[in-house]
Amino acid sequence: MFTCFVPTYHATSIYEVDPSFYKAVGVKNLLIDLDNTLDSYRLFVPSERAVILLKRLQDEGLNLYILSNNHGPRVASYATKMNLPYLHSARKPFAFKVKKVLSENKFLPSETMLVGDQLMTDVLCAKKAKIRVLLTEKIVTEDQWTTVVNRWFDRPIRRHLKKKGLLKEWVTVHE
Ligand SMILES: [Mg+2]
Repeated sequence: MFTCFVPTYHATSIYEVDPSFYKAVGVKNLLIDLDNTLDSYRLFVPSERAVILLKRLQDEGLNLYILSNNHGPRVASYATKMNLPYLHSARKPFAFKVKKVLSENKFLPSETMLVGDQLMTDVLCAKKAKIRVLLTEKIVTEDQWTTVVNRWFDRPIRRHLKKKGLLKEWVTVHE
């Protein structure tokens, strides 16, 4: 019943994941959620730590792509500060827009991973697009109102997955 919610990997935050991890598991392309994965939904430009992390990921040779359900002006403002390609209004958990991103950028599903903080959008979307997904915990406590409802469903499912040992921590992975 819960298999569609089981992420490939789990981390407390994208900031704790060593950039070398992705290459070590054969990932070349990283689709990164914005709100509560990289920064608060209130920020229109990347925080200093986001800038540092994104640069380190690029230095690893990874193709980065910002994938957000949020509206155009905010996502555009954030991504263009880093010269990153992006998709706003991505409609996660639906996968049709993500699949288009994969084909347009020639990203092989087997070499692509989505990183995001939500089960109801990020994990479901990745599963439908048949790509791997790294689930994180939210990095700030506040959510945009559109996310609040998702969290009602997210919390108990996440608790269940943790209890059942289904959240595989990225640090324990040796592939
Ligand atoms: Mg998010």
